[in-house]
Amino acid sequence: MKFESNIIPEARPLIISGPCSAETPQQVLETARQLAAIGRVHLFRAGLWKPRTRPDSFEGVGEAGLPWLRDVKQSTGLPVTVEVAKASHIEKALASGIDVLWIGARSAANPFSVQELADALRGVDIPVLIKNPINADLELWIGAIERFMKAGVRSIGAIHRGFSSYGHSEYRNPPMWNIPIELKRRFPELLLLCDPSHICGNRHLLQKISQRSIDLGFNGLMIESHIDPDQALSDAAQQITPARLSDLLNQLVWRVEHSTGTADSNTLTDLRHHMDVLDEELLNLMGQRMKLAERIGLYKKAHNMTILQTKRWNEILENGLGKGQELKLSKDFVLRYFNSIHLESIRHQHAVMNRDEQSESLTSASNEHAVN
Ligand code: PEP
Ligand code: MN
Repeated sequence: MKFESNIIPEARPLIISGPCSAETPQQVLETARQLAAIGRVHLFRAGLWKPRTRPDSFEGVGEAGLPWLRDVKQSTGLPVTVEVAKASHIEKALASGIDVLWIGARSAANPFSVQELADALRGVDIPVLIKNPINADLELWIGAIERFMKAGVRSIGAIHRGFSSYGHSEYRNPPMWNIPIELKRRFPELLLLCDPSHICGNRHLLQKISQRSIDLGFNGLMIESHIDPDQALSDAAQQITPARLSDLLNQLVWRVEHSTGTADSNTLTDLRHHMDVLDEELLNLMGQRMKLAERIGLYKKAHNMTILQTKRWNEILENGLGKGQELKLSKDFVLRYFNSIHLESIRHQHAVMNRDEQSESLTSASNEHAVN
């Protein structure tokens, strides 16, 4: 695929900000004025048609917000972008002079929606930013990009906003960095932005996630801002004031894409960043695995089951060795890896099994016992 990433080409890193939702003309205009005043924002965002998880939530002001965005353009000079989820949204946005469109994560997950949107853009020259689908499926993301390309849209960017996950996580949408990293590897020319707001779902992790994306070579950020974040009608917990956005941007350490160092050292730096990310993901997964071991421990305790599950342990080893061979990992490494995980699982199971009844003598289980 050949991309023309000419979405404000002089603005790298490209910074997009504005409220999750347009709420009132005053809120939109005042947020835009404050953002324009910090001098670091290139594109103003505001959601008009809001895809909400539950009914009876604020679903956006719809087309009534289009004139407010025209006012923003007129009084601040900032170009504007909105999320479109239906052909009718595109029609109205184009008629109103919106500069850039973005496709939300829920739409990106549905090829019917994506196709409808792509068809509505045939023969239209407007840049489109495509968020990753909510589910962690790189091919689906690429598929959405391809549908727009095939419809003749040339100016395309991708926005990484994290992926839905079930259960507890410190993030609203865990970043699973290996997915956007693979996207970038396959399409190095594609403009790749990060949306830390929807990854974090809170304010305190925004700085860390923004920095991480910059370190990984992302080309810019989309961050939600609001003049009074606590009172926002959607995504209140993650929005920040324009002043706070300014601090965040000032504290970021921007990486020079083509530093004065040799090409080799640049590559090495990139590779090391990627490796750090993968190591962190491995540890996160390990933490999740130990939590599962604890739940299994509690289950066994409740059902008065023995810890010894040799058959299960053999199965795990056998599967692991087979998979390891496929991945060209040595047998010796795979065995040491599983033994080490096994020992740690035992420690976790014992800890939970003995938590309530310290005196119960479950500690007699030996290390040979499978605890998985
Ligand atoms: C948004 O940008 O406000 C939004 C709804 O995002 P997403 O599609 O990533 O959930
Ligand atoms: Mn939002």
